[in-house]
Amino acid sequence: MAYKDPEEARSWKRRWRQSHKEQEQLQQRRYREAHKEQRQAYQQQYYAEWIATHRREHSESATVYYQEHKDERLAYAKGHYHEHRREKLAYQSAYSASHKKEARVYRKAHLDEIVVRNRNRYSLLHATGTRIARSQWEAIKRAYGGRCAYCHGTAKRLTMDHFIPLSRGGIHTVSNIVPACGHCNSSKGNRIPSFTPPLRLLL
Ligand SMILES: [Zn+2]
Repeated sequence: MAYKDPEEARSWKRRWRQSHKEQEQLQQRRYREAHKEQRQAYQQQYYAEWIATHRREHSESATVYYQEHKDERLAYAKGHYHEHRREKLAYQSAYSASHKKEARVYRKAHLDEIVVRNRNRYSLLHATGTRIARSQWEAIKRAYGGRCAYCHGTAKRLTMDHFIPLSRGGIHTVSNIVPACGHCNSSKGNRIPSFTPPLRLLL
């Protein structure tokens, strides 16, 4: 159907599109569904390439940000955590009490992974053959004034944190142990902190 008048042709196209909108959407949806895996693979590849080219930039700017805002972040973490500690603990214990069944199901479904993770951790812990004596651990805690090395908060229970995580090549020795509150220990994950804790300089 050829229109000589371009305005008329445009209005015809508009009308056609409107009447075929649903059909078009259906087609697009079908296309997306049929090509789901290719699309995902493409997205993953794109993401991996982006990470590879921007990694250095990204980690540098993150480190700069981290250092520039260190005091604020520490103050925030300290204040926020200690203000909400009781609530958080209550929430966590209520959650785990009401989700026992889910936790069991999860453990059962991920048994292999959990075993491997624990075994890796165990072998890393014992690879150097060193052990931290209770007296050494008490001395480390005293050196930090009984406070968490990260948020400087006083926690009733301080945990041994591997400053350089075992999974990142850290070893289980006195010089790699700092006291951390449960919150900082678990939120630190396998990151290597960007500051040097004072005790490490003394040992
Ligand atoms: Zn802490």
